[in-house]
Amino acid sequence: MKNSFFTYTLSSFETAVKDLGVAKFTAKQIYQWIYQKHERNPEAWTNISKKNRDLITEHFDFSIPQIVWNGLSKDGTRKFLVKMQDGNTVETVAIAAKERLTLCISSQVGCAIGCTFCHTGTQGLKRHLKPNEIIGQFYTVTEFLNTNDPEGQKLTNIVYMGQGEPLHNYENVKLATEIFLEPHGFALSQRKITLSTSGLVPQIEKLGEFPPVNIAISLHSAKNNVRTELMPINKVYDLERLFQAIRTIPLKSHRRITYEYLLIDGLNDTPEDVIALSQLLKRKESKINLIPFNEYPGSNYKRPSNEKVLWFMDQLIQRGFTCTIRATKGHDILAACGQLKTQVEKVNLWNETSLSL
Ligand code: SAH
Ligand code: SF4
Repeated sequence: MKNSFFTYTLSSFETAVKDLGVAKFTAKQIYQWIYQKHERNPEAWTNISKKNRDLITEHFDFSIPQIVWNGLSKDGTRKFLVKMQDGNTVETVAIAAKERLTLCISSQVGCAIGCTFCHTGTQGLKRHLKPNEIIGQFYTVTEFLNTNDPEGQKLTNIVYMGQGEPLHNYENVKLATEIFLEPHGFALSQRKITLSTSGLVPQIEKLGEFPPVNIAISLHSAKNNVRTELMPINKVYDLERLFQAIRTIPLKSHRRITYEYLLIDGLNDTPEDVIALSQLLKRKESKINLIPFNEYPGSNYKRPSNEKVLWFMDQLIQRGFTCTIRATKGHDILAACGQLKTQVEKVNLWNETSLSL
């Protein structure tokens, strides 16, 4: 079986083709054709000899996951349902904001963590995604945009905030991240990639071996009992253990950790919660990103009123924190974590085309 090209860093690709008698500089040229010129058809690689093209295509697979559904929201958010070779699908969302076009990438099919507020969490873990399936989400969306919106904004940023817990799939997400950063590949900068985790302590303690991308921690409560209710992982790694691990993350001096804080009506949005949060976090080293709960059909929790959300933010700002509110994007086509996939699958059961945009 051929190996996917999209599992190689430049240096590992150079080593792999060396065994076939192909020169290093040819490996680099192919890398550039694929990632910088977005040309997957070997016939078009004009500076590569026919002999080398044949050798390479005989040994490597250049296929990418297929977009089986996409939808454009009124606010410009574009969602994709992406099918892997084995038929599993994941969702990937392109979110436009200011000069950025951020791709929200999935790291697993489903998720094992089982947070009670999360639609993906209710599905359990089906499997990890391979590095080429993680890279493939970015690649297939880039191809889609080049074809369908050639004059439009290109993807600039990545957040690992789609389905799955990226640190549960540590090795594959690490390799994919290294490939995203390749200077002769997509050449994304470390500052443009954010990894969000629910708090897998052993893997957080290994972040020193991970490319130094931005880290976001899904905190959601500064009180152990409430956090355990929301995130069963808190039973295994409680707040004290989590923060011990966070202190081991090597941070570049200009960077801070982002704490994601889901706001759920009546559950974690009280004055007591403000106090607990401001006692737990260090002002200078933390950024707080408030996420009003995104309701979905069948969800147990309620989103607080806009006044409540603004009040919560204001309380934190008054206490000296940097605090932002995450705008809900793509609400009209169910953008949040895990919601699109289930909805599309349900809709497809009775009518392939009924989800008109
Ligand atoms: N598994 C990782 C990354 C994917 S989830 C993590 O949990 O951090 C990305 C973010 O979306 C997390 O902060 C998660 O808590 C949040 N999220 C999940 N379901 C949500 C919902 N229904 N409304 C709002 N945010 C949600
Ligand atoms: Fe998994 Fe993150 Fe959803 Fe929790 S919030 S179930 S960790 S994807």
